[in-house]
Amino acid sequence: MTVVVEQIVTPRVREFLAGTKQLYIDGEFVDAVSGRTFVTLDPATGEHLADVAHGESADIDRAVRAARRAFEPWAAVKPNERERLIWRVGDLLTERAAEFGQLESLDNGKSAAVASSVDTAWAADVFRYYAGWATKIEGSTVNVSMPFAPVGEFHAYTLREPVGVCGLIVPWNFPLLMAARKLAPALAAGNTVILKPAEQTPLTAIMLAEVFEEAGFPPGVVNIVPGFGEAGAALAAHDDVDKIAFTGSAEVGRKIVDAAKGNLKRVSLELGGKSPSIVFADADFDAAVQGSLNAWLFNHGQCCVGGTRLYVEDSIFERFTEAIADAASYVRLGPGLDPTAEIGPLVSQEQLDRVTGYLDDGLCNGARALTGGKRWGERGYFVEPTVLVDVKPEFSVVREETFGPVVAAMSFNADEGIVTAANDSIYGLAAGIWTRDISKAHRTARRLKAGSVWINQYNGFDTAMPFGGYKQSGWGRELGASGIDAFTQTKAVNVAL
Ligand code: NAP
Ligand code: MG
Repeated sequence: MTVVVEQIVTPRVREFLAGTKQLYIDGEFVDAVSGRTFVTLDPATGEHLADVAHGESADIDRAVRAARRAFEPWAAVKPNERERLIWRVGDLLTERAAEFGQLESLDNGKSAAVASSVDTAWAADVFRYYAGWATKIEGSTVNVSMPFAPVGEFHAYTLREPVGVCGLIVPWNFPLLMAARKLAPALAAGNTVILKPAEQTPLTAIMLAEVFEEAGFPPGVVNIVPGFGEAGAALAAHDDVDKIAFTGSAEVGRKIVDAAKGNLKRVSLELGGKSPSIVFADADFDAAVQGSLNAWLFNHGQCCVGGTRLYVEDSIFERFTEAIADAASYVRLGPGLDPTAEIGPLVSQEQLDRVTGYLDDGLCNGARALTGGKRWGERGYFVEPTVLVDVKPEFSVVREETFGPVVAAMSFNADEGIVTAANDSIYGLAAGIWTRDISKAHRTARRLKAGSVWINQYNGFDTAMPFGGYKQSGWGRELGASGIDAFTQTKAVNVAL
């Protein structure tokens, strides 16, 4: 830790960072079987932040065995007791939001204020929302006709039961929040879990283990095993895991599907996106500038839903892109712990190289940066907020997920329509529409191939709204009632009376 960081962080965070962070298996903090550790870095400086036990397949195996032992007893815990425990996690997160925010900021690079008021606050909300679901998971009675058994009376009903032992694999862009979105419904439905956080950002998951401990969860119900892709792969291939819930890249999603084939475990996938943000000429100009800026710049562009293809109606294209470039040029960069910084560094050297690679490729092929266009500073992994124009649909920066503070702006003609261009992607995660014409807004929303459509706003998430992707953006839905569906299975019972 640098001297400045040491002055800012709370004593509890400082203390947390001091020792080697261990795995959490069967209700205990333990070293990896191999005794190995790895280092997590502060992306604002590239310096050492903490040492973390390096979970591998032997540790995954231990965790799966613990989760299996814990499963039947946990599934049998009364729903209102599960509710109380999960609710307590939400309350503890709220109490410790400043700490979680600082830790997430140090590990990931995002603003500490945002990490506490958005990431941690929403994670707490997710735990409370699904705490409420624990007592509301119901089957139904079915009014059967039994055409092949004309005689007799029958009582038929369904039960909604947990899937079993679930592996939860999450990425680095919203480490705590992504974990919460899987943990909370899985636990509410009576499953036991093994969480594998991303190698770049393992810390808040480990701090969350303290919260589960304090809340009073029985041993083995929640296991947390930081490690690299190999640990995730071991979880996905494990014969005693019943389900994998994954958020990450489409590339790794495919590997998970392959690995899951052995025991045909259930798989749900929240993958990437390349989402269009569509601005019609009749939109509220200033609101659309601010909103579509937020669409690609929030979390420094490290959002799966990022509105990184900006389509603006030709009659306002020049004025609009200049306004958005102007707004972007005033955005202050800095470390996440700097309260005046609006956006922070990318998470790693690898992401810095990847994002500047997309920029260089676009610029070499004739794109023009209205603002930004390169790395910012020499320390840490910062990239200037960048608005690219003169881009062609075949450019990599238009087709691939950039995962950085970069938008590709293109114009469209209203008579020719925008839906075909907007849907021209292998992904279908989200889309934004900006117009004052309510019919046009709804008509366009219906024709877009995207799991979430936001009208006159962007990133309009809510815990009660289902979230997930069309096309190669994923399988299944998280959040809302869909989150419970993803972690339950239905049993049909039919009784001859
Ligand atoms: P990633 O490389 O796919 O990694 C995601 C997680 O999978 C990490 O924990 C990773 O571990 C693990 N992993 C790596 N190889 C694995 C394997 N063979 N088997 C099982 N697990 C494996 O994704 P990322 O680069 O961390 O995150 C960015 C991606 O996530 C983007 O594509 C983004 O769009 C997507 N994302 C989607 C959503 C959504 O809800 N749809 C939300 C956020 C992010 P290591 O960290 O050790 O490699
Ligand atoms: Mg880190």
